[in-house]
Amino acid sequence: MDFNGKKGIILGIANDKSIAYSIALLLKNSGAQLCLTYPNEAIEKRVRPIAEELKVDFVEKCDVSCEDDIHKLRDAVVARWQKIDFLVHSIAYAEKEDLSRRFIETSKRGFMIALDISAYSLLALCREFEKVFEDGSSILTLTYLGSERVVPNYNVMGVAKAALEAVVKYLAYDLGPKQIRINAISAGPIKTLAASGISGFSEMLKSFEDRALLKRKVTQEEVANAGLFLLSNMSSGITGEIVFVDCGYNLLGF
Ligand code: NAP
Repeated sequence: MDFNGKKGIILGIANDKSIAYSIALLLKNSGAQLCLTYPNEAIEKRVRPIAEELKVDFVEKCDVSCEDDIHKLRDAVVARWQKIDFLVHSIAYAEKEDLSRRFIETSKRGFMIALDISAYSLLALCREFEKVFEDGSSILTLTYLGSERVVPNYNVMGVAKAALEAVVKYLAYDLGPKQIRINAISAGPIKTLAASGISGFSEMLKSFEDRALLKRKVTQEEVANAGLFLLSNMSSGITGEIVFVDCGYNLLGF
C-alpha cells in the first residue's frame, strides 16, 4: 500500500512488542510521515530509540487523560503539517488490581480511569483533530472480544472496550459527511506490556491457540496489515466497523 505524501499520528507505542509499533513500521515502510507520542518519561525513554530506528524526528508527549496534552499535540501537529491523513489510537489502561479481582469489586475511581483512558480519549482526540483531518482521513483504534463476551479478569477493560466500540460508531456517524472514516480492529490476544497486566493472560493465550479456527495465535504483523488496509484508500467504503483479526476465534459458539 502506498502512503507516500500521507501524514499521521500514532499513539500507543510502549516498546517493539506493541501493536502500534508494528503499525508504525508498516506505515513507515509504505512511505508515510509519522508523529509518535509517549505519555510519560518512562515510555519516552523507549519511544525515542524506536523513533530513531524508524527515522521519525517528530515525537511529542501526550498523556491522553490530560486535555492540555491533547491541545499541545494538536498545536504541534498543525505547526508542522497543518493537516493529517490518519490517526492510530492504540491505548488502553486499567488499574492492575481491577484486572485480577472480581469485577464486582471495581471502584468508581478504577472504573473512571479505565473508561477515560481507554474509551473517552478517542472521542477527545477526534474532537481536537476534527478540523485538522484532511477529507478522506482514516482513524483506527484497537479493541478486544471482552467487550461483548465475558473474559475472566478482563473485567472493567471489557466495559471500556464496549464503550470504545460504541464511540467508534457514533464518531463514524459524525465524521462520515466529511469522508473521514473510523474503524476498530478487534485483535486476538498478543503478548504485549498491556496484556501482561491481565491476570491469567498466558493461560488465555494457550487456550486461544488450541481453539481458534486457524489453530494458532494471531501476530502483531497480521493486526498491522489489517490496520494498514483500514487506514488506506483500499478500504474507502468501510467506516464504523469492528473488524476481527483473531484467527476466527470470535466465531466459536462452544
Ligand atoms: P502496549 O504495548 O502496552 O500499548 C498500550 C499503550 O497505551 C502503552 O504505550 C501505554 O503506555 C499506553 N497508555 C496507557 N495509558 C496512557 C495514557 N494515559 N496516555 C497515553 N498512552 C497511554 O499494549 P498493546 O497490546 O499493543 O495495546 C494496544 C491496544 O491494543 C490497546 O488498546 C489494547 O487494549 C489493544 N488490544 C490488545 C490486545 C492484546 O492482546 N495485546 C488484544 C486486543 C486489543 P504505558 O505503558 O505507560 O501504560
